[in-house]
Amino acid sequence: MMENYEAIILGAGPCGIGAALKLKEAGINFAIIDGGTPGGKVNIAPRVDNYPGFKEIPGPDLAFKLFERLMNNDISITADNILSLEKEGDLFILKGEYDEYRAKTVLIATGTKERKVGLEREDELFGHGLSYCALCDGHFFKGEDVMVIGGGNAALKEAIHLSHIVKHLYVIHRRNEFRGSNNLVEELKKKENVTILTPYIPIKFLGEDKVSGVVIQNKETEETKTIELQGIFPLVGQIPNTTFVKIDNVLDIKGTIPVDKNMETSVKGLFAGGDVLPRDIRQIYLAEHDGNVASKNMIEYLKK
Ligand SMILES: Cc1cc2nc3c(=O)[nH]c(=O)nc-3n(C[C@H](O)[C@H](O)[C@H](O)COP(=O)(O)OP(=O)(O)OC[C@H]3O[C@@H](n4cnc5c(N)ncnc54)[C@H](O)[C@@H]3O)c2cc1C
Repeated sequence: MMENYEAIILGAGPCGIGAALKLKEAGINFAIIDGGTPGGKVNIAPRVDNYPGFKEIPGPDLAFKLFERLMNNDISITADNILSLEKEGDLFILKGEYDEYRAKTVLIATGTKERKVGLEREDELFGHGLSYCALCDGHFFKGEDVMVIGGGNAALKEAIHLSHIVKHLYVIHRRNEFRGSNNLVEELKKKENVTILTPYIPIKFLGEDKVSGVVIQNKETEETKTIELQGIFPLVGQIPNTTFVKIDNVLDIKGTIPVDKNMETSVKGLFAGGDVLPRDIRQIYLAEHDGNVASKNMIEYLKK
């Protein structure tokens, strides 16, 4: 059944939730649609240590607090995975796995997913010792040897989380300098069960039915070594969740969504915010900010 709304928010992470609260306050007839877990990526952040009001809080606890804000404001989430977004005349048409939706204005707040390393057997070993989420799967590796591949903040935080669970943790990164914060690197360096190897890249994942090791190569000397272990966590960056966008000139070459200062895309009435934007720093407070700015301008757009 086709459902009609004034506005649709796609994604119930910090950006979508921030926007939903403002639209509700303004009395707009809207839906917030999410195909995953409310709170978005915050659910898989082992530890959030820069969210205003908390010195430090586990990601799932903060995600629940964000979700509670929706519940306290009588906002329910429509559970659907959107497969296409098109525009017909003045209306946006969203087709999901379960339903179709129409709206005069849409906010895309669908975030990102983890980028694959791109090595052979990566897909076959996924779920058999290879995971992209330490918080979700780290407990399976209690007392085992594990490798994190990556050097950004997310990779470093997931590595710290894993270091409390596993027997030995290898962290490999392709450069000698880490992209993530120095504090996190120093925290990792102090741990007795952590070996940091730079500048190394993985060149082969080993294992038939499940992970048994990784062959890594030094980027400067080209020397290779094989490390026997039971778990691999590739955390090498993110790709935007935007393949459903079927409207021309919305996505840039990387699939992220450029916006103006009002969070509006090149298409009138179509807004975007949070991690789907082309930006170097992806953070909860930025996503919330974007959701607030976008919703204010969605309300202005509807008034016109
Ligand atoms: C390990 C880790 C640690 C982090 N630590 C911190 C930290 O300490 N501090 C900090 O500020 N930030 C941290 N972040 C980053 C932070 O989580 C993100 O910047 C933030 O969640 C982005 O919010 P968002 O609303 O843009 O997207 P997301 O939180 O990614 O939410 C997007 C939502 O859209 C939904 N969705 C996607 N595609 C579709 C579709 N087609 N149909 C329907 N729904 C869809 C998803 O299910 C998801 O719920 C961390 C991230 C990770 C991975």
